[in-house]
Amino acid sequence: MIVVTDAIKTYRSGDESFNALNNISLQINKGEFTAIMGPSGSGKSTLMNVLGCLDRLNSGEYTLNGKQVFKMSDEELAHIRNKEIGFVFQAFNLLPRMNILENVELPMAYAGFPLKARRAKALEALEKVGLGDRITHKPNEISGGQKQRVAIARAIVNNPNVLMADEPTGNLDSKSSIEIMRIFQDLNNEGSTIIMVTHEPDIAQHCKRVVSFRDGNIVEDSLVKDRILL
Ligand code: ADP
Ligand code: ADP
Repeated sequence: MIVVTDAIKTYRSGDESFNALNNISLQINKGEFTAIMGPSGSGKSTLMNVLGCLDRLNSGEYTLNGKQVFKMSDEELAHIRNKEIGFVFQAFNLLPRMNILENVELPMAYAGFPLKARRAKALEALEKVGLGDRITHKPNEISGGQKQRVAIARAIVNNPNVLMADEPTGNLDSKSSIEIMRIFQDLNNEGSTIIMVTHEPDIAQHCKRVVSFRDGNIVEDSLVKDRILL
């Protein structure tokens, strides 16, 4: 479903330019659960920004579910981003004045769903992450692990094709990190395709596949041996 071919992303500063993605090709099929690893500066965020339709390649091709993303206008890019992709961030990115239910409803409000449908689907997503009984709390009234579960509910509420997470456990203790990985495994078992950046080998051990970057190149791409199932 995700096909990246000969992808180059170049950044310039003054006269200098270098490739943050240095001619990479990558295919990720439906139902995969992939960890993206590599040292700081190796191109992980750049790849995620491209896959998430937040940024464009300088050359090469990106196709998502048969749609040629590399040929799209900015407007089409924004549309496919809202429709096809759910995002989870390290810093949760919840809106502090809204309660949990309202935070999860937000992507559906943007997509134009009426209130009643939004409420029902947001509740369903919150129940899926085990927070059906916390819906009127504000983000500052729950723990970090719970905040990330709210963020996952928000990311899945529109039934995206791909769930993309950038260091989703980076701000969490070990116990909460494992809870988050359990939820990702459950979602993946139900058919969600998940792509996740992580620095932590222990966390990657819960995924099915690891793609490692160095200096804008893919240096390893393998199935996880002795995968941890939760
Ligand atoms: P991480 O390593 O946690 O992925 P970084 O600190 O490398 O994050 O980058 C954070 C954000 O800043 C990224 O979205 C990236 O695009 C941007 N960024 C990183 N390096 C530069 C740079 N040299 N100039 C401008 N923006 C940058
Ligand atoms: P990672 O996520 O693996 O830490 P990034 O994709 O953020 O790596 O960055 C790859 C390289 O590109 C780094 O050297 C970073 O400084 C540079 N970079 C990222 N974003 C920008 C930007 N907007 N402008 C200039 N350089 C950038």
